[in-house]
Amino acid sequence: MSQTSQSRSSSDMLSDYHLHLRPDELEATPELYFTPANVDRYRAAAEERGISELGVSEHVYRFAAALDVWRHPLWREFAHDDIDEYCAFVREQTDLRLGIEADFIPGGEDRMANLLEARDFDYVVGSVHFLGEGSLDTEEHSVWGSTGGAGSGRSGSLGSGRSAERIWRDYFLTLGQAARSGLFDILAHPDLVKVWGPTDPERPVPDGDLRRYYELAMEGIAESGIAVEVSTAGLRKRAKEIYPAPAFLQMCLEAGAPVALSSDAHRPGDVGADYERALELLDGLGVRELCVFERRQRRLESIGASVA
Ligand SMILES: [Zn+2]
Ligand SMILES: [Zn+2]
Repeated sequence: MSQTSQSRSSSDMLSDYHLHLRPDELEATPELYFTPANVDRYRAAAEERGISELGVSEHVYRFAAALDVWRHPLWREFAHDDIDEYCAFVREQTDLRLGIEADFIPGGEDRMANLLEARDFDYVVGSVHFLGEGSLDTEEHSVWGSTGGAGSGRSGSLGSGRSAERIWRDYFLTLGQAARSGLFDILAHPDLVKVWGPTDPERPVPDGDLRRYYELAMEGIAESGIAVEVSTAGLRKRAKEIYPAPAFLQMCLEAGAPVALSSDAHRPGDVGADYERALELLDGLGVRELCVFERRQRRLESIGASVA
C-alpha cells in the first residue's frame, strides 16, 4: 500500500471507489488514459483531499466482452476495449483497487455473473442506467421518450409517453432487483432517476413525498446486505444534489446498509469533489464508518476526521 495509508491511522479513512480514468467518449481510448501517468494525477488529487482508499470502476459497456451480456445500440457503439487488459493494467501498473461499474440487465444476470466472476475484482459497482431499452441518464435512447429512441422494450411498456410516476416506480423496483441479484457489492448513484433535476418539463420529478418510491427498493437492499453508494456526482449534474437524497439514505441505514463513498469522477479534478457536503450528510445521519473492499470482501473503517 501507499505511504499515505501507512502514515494515516486505520481509523482515519476516506474512500473514492467509483472512479473512471477517462471521460465517457469514444475518443477516450485506453492508450490515452490507462497509463501510470494518468493514474498519478488521480492519486495526487486524492492525496490532496485526504483520500487514501482509491479504486477505479470503468464502465463495463466500454469492453467488448459486455456484448456477450447485452447488445443495446449504445453498448454496440461503445464496447471496444479488452477487459482483461484493463484488469492487468490496474493490477500490474497501479496501486488502485480494481473495480468495475456494471449495469443491471434484467434477464442477463447469468451472463453478467460469468463476466464478473471470471476476473478478480476488488468490488463491483452495480448501476441501473436503463429501464428496458430506455436510458435514464443520456439524451440518446431516453426512457423519457423525448428522442424517440426507446423503441420497444422487453417489458413491452416502454417508449414515449411514459409518466414520471411509471418511470420512478420502475426505476426503484429495478434498483431493488439489482440489489437482490447478488451481482454487486455497491449500489451506485441510488436515485439516478432524478439526474435531470426538478425543473425539467419533459422529465419531471413526481410530486409529494418521494419515499413512496424509495420504499420499492428497500426490501431488496435490506435482504441483500449490499452497500449503498453516497455519490457527489449528482451535485455536478442538473439534479444539483448528492445521490441519494437524505430520506433515501436514512431508509437504507434503517435497513442496515453500510455506505460506500465516491465521487464518480471522470477526470482527476473531480476526485473527492464536494466531499465536505457528503461528510456533512453522513455525519448528520450518524454514519461513522465506510466500506473498504478487497477481492470482494468487505470491511468497515472509521471515517477520516476532515477533508482539507
Ligand atoms: Zn453510473
Ligand atoms: Zn460511473
